[in-house]
Amino acid sequence: MIDDFGRCQTTLSRPIEFAGVGLHGGLSSRLSIIPATADTGVVFERPEGSIPALLPFVSDASRCTAISNGEARIETIEHVLASLFALGVTNATVRVLEGVEAPVLDGSAMPIAQAILEAGIEAIPGTRRKQVRVRDALYVQREGSYAIALPHHQLRATVIVEFPQPVGSEVVDAPDVREQFVERIAPARTPGFVREWEMLKSRGLALGASADNVLPIHDEGYGDELRVPNEVGAHKLLDLVGDLALVGADIAAHIITYRGGHALNHALGRAILESTSVDE
Ligand SMILES: [Zn+2]
Repeated sequence: MIDDFGRCQTTLSRPIEFAGVGLHGGLSSRLSIIPATADTGVVFERPEGSIPALLPFVSDASRCTAISNGEARIETIEHVLASLFALGVTNATVRVLEGVEAPVLDGSAMPIAQAILEAGIEAIPGTRRKQVRVRDALYVQREGSYAIALPHHQLRATVIVEFPQPVGSEVVDAPDVREQFVERIAPARTPGFVREWEMLKSRGLALGASADNVLPIHDEGYGDELRVPNEVGAHKLLDLVGDLALVGADIAAHIITYRGGHALNHALGRAILESTSVDE
């Protein structure tokens, strides 16, 4: 059972650190997530300055989520954000010690989620979590992809994906995102369509992708055993959770996306913020 920390804001009990390569740049990357005081939110710190992990700072949504503030920029932050958000950590400073993107690790959010749980999460007494509650249905669309937010008492997410075979059509539903994150969502790896790799690499993308950090997908089938059922859809749900974290508050809504992606997720997050007030 996931604690709701008595509705208090929270932070980590001690710092944690990750190192590896970035998925897109293929360069070494090292991050440290350290405890932060009440009302800090999640903030990335680069030598050039700090970047709040909030929607107004989003600067790219094409293959990953990137945020920037002036000269400071950090990419591929969605798995870090999903883990903090789903596990209920409201305040943390993410210090970027090396690299310009978060390390891909094993392609999933599991190493980050586990490290957060091992470090421990503590309530900050006398504080209140921010929450947005969707009160009327909201709808956004973008190039054949659609997202809906419906009133609901907690964060539920349903993701529908359509890919060529062997993935095909998948529906992944997490009726309680926070409760199901560790078992059902965090283990899902970044899908890697092997046929696309050459094209991506020639454009300077996916340079860090390897069989160690993606779920390889060949035309004839998966290149590895699946960790969770419908792993591709589950990974899209993981990315959605990371993108919704940029709202900067707990969300009470049922979110449904069809063929979603980062840009659609951000658009829905903005629509949620515009339609509701943040309760403190
Ligand atoms: Zn991802």
